[in-house]
Amino acid sequence: MTSEIRYDRDNVFAKILRGEIPCDKVYEDDHVLAFRDIAPQAPVHVLVIPKGPYISLADFSTIASPDEIAEFFAAVGKIASDLGLDDPGYRILANHGSDGGQEVPHFHVHIFGGKKLGAMLP
Ligand code: C5P
Repeated sequence: MTSEIRYDRDNVFAKILRGEIPCDKVYEDDHVLAFRDIAPQAPVHVLVIPKGPYISLADFSTIASPDEIAEFFAAVGKIASDLGLDDPGYRILANHGSDGGQEVPHFHVHIFGGKKLGAMLP
C-alpha cells in the first residue's frame, strides 16, 4: 500500500495545510510550512512540516526527492536561525510512530529553544 493511500487526509496538519484550521505561521514556501506549537513545551516551540502527504520520517526519507529533503532541512535551519536561536542554541526532534510518541500522522520536525533544555527532552 502506498503512502498516498495510507495517509489520513483529515489529520490536523492536513487541515492546517488546507487552511481549514488556523495556525500561528512563522514561515512558508512552496514545499514547507512552519507554525508555533499550540501547546508549547519551551519558550520557542515551532513545528516544521513538508506540504506533501508524508506520514513520518520513514515516508519522507524514502518517497520525497533528494532536493525536497535537502530543502526541507535547509528550511528547518533557516527558520531556527530567523527565530534567533542559533546562539545559544536549540533542539530539533521528530517523533516516529506510537513508541516514538507521534500523535499527528503527518511528518513534522519540532524546534525547541529559548531556554536551557534538559538532557533528553525539553
Ligand atoms: O510529535 P507529535 O505528533 O507528538 O507532536 C504533535 C504536536 O502537534 C504536539 O506538540 C501538539 O501540541 C501540536 N499540535 C499543534 N496544533 C494542533 C494540534 C497539535 O500545534 N492543532
